[in-house]
Amino acid sequence: MADVPSDAPEHCPGTQSESAGKVSACQGCPNQSICSSGAARGPDPGIELVRKRLESVKHKILVLSGKGGVGKSTFTSLLARGLAAADSDRNVAILDIDICGPSIPRVMGVLGEQVHQSGSGWSPVYVEDNLSVMSIGFLLSSPDDAIIWRGPKKNGMIRQFLSEVDWGALDYLVIDTPPGTSDEHLSAAQYLLNAGLTGAVILTTPHEVALLDVRKEIDFCRKVSIPVLGVVENMAAFVCPKCKTETAIFPANTGGGSKMAMELGVPFLGSLPLDPRLARSCDEGTNFLTDVQDSPTTVAFNKLLKDVVEACEESRSS
Ligand code: ADP
Repeated sequence: MADVPSDAPEHCPGTQSESAGKVSACQGCPNQSICSSGAARGPDPGIELVRKRLESVKHKILVLSGKGGVGKSTFTSLLARGLAAADSDRNVAILDIDICGPSIPRVMGVLGEQVHQSGSGWSPVYVEDNLSVMSIGFLLSSPDDAIIWRGPKKNGMIRQFLSEVDWGALDYLVIDTPPGTSDEHLSAAQYLLNAGLTGAVILTTPHEVALLDVRKEIDFCRKVSIPVLGVVENMAAFVCPKCKTETAIFPANTGGGSKMAMELGVPFLGSLPLDPRLARSCDEGTNFLTDVQDSPTTVAFNKLLKDVVEACEESRSS
């Protein structure tokens, strides 16, 4: 996979590419002659850098979804907050590699924070003593900035994120990814599989259009050997806070996430109901799990959290 130096021009083809040093974007780049000679090609040095950096991280969890808008970032934030709150001796972090739509800074209430660089790498932003966050969103001059990068440049940024953040010793690193199966996923998989990836949690909603894409996501995991920790079905039902009547917002016409998980032979971790207070909490960057403890979503999430922890322990020991 292509590797891009941090000082690369905008459309750098990557040092590992056959066209390295030979395309118009390379004109004027200080690395042009070494790239065109082919001397920079070889095993990606990033793989070893990522492995070394993540040696002190016990569990590395990818959060994946086939589609955007199914609640991947919301789940990532709940998972990290839930893991950190359950044990104050546990160190947890979120890495947001959703380069085109980094929403973690907002959801975690750290929008506009600055990342500092020290001799040992980039320092993540701390939400709690045992919960830190790193996101491309911290590096943008404004939250409305669009990031229009080609594949190799994105891969270079992901490698930097995985190899240059000074996390310290972590029990859990939860990685929020863009939807689908694109360059970012291939890069992350390549680096993380060599660094001992615990596995992936896959988010979906119950309707068939979302499930179709999840099947592709599971197929991708199998092809690149990412262990699937399980499927989570989000926004499965709405429980009226007044009369407690449960309504299926996205009807599971084809059996929903649990049937699909059974068919594909992957664990089903559970369903999270829709709660408008959760959407508000994400917009405001507050901690829904502690603020709205009686929500059916909080209750369902707390049960699901135990299953995720168990799945992680099982994956590590297998
Ligand atoms: P993704 O990361 O998959 O694109 P988000 O996590 O950004 O999706 O969620 C999309 C929107 O749905 C957000 O506004 C979020 O607050 C909301 N949302 C996600 N899950 C729930 C839920 N269970 N109940 C209510 N709103 C939710």
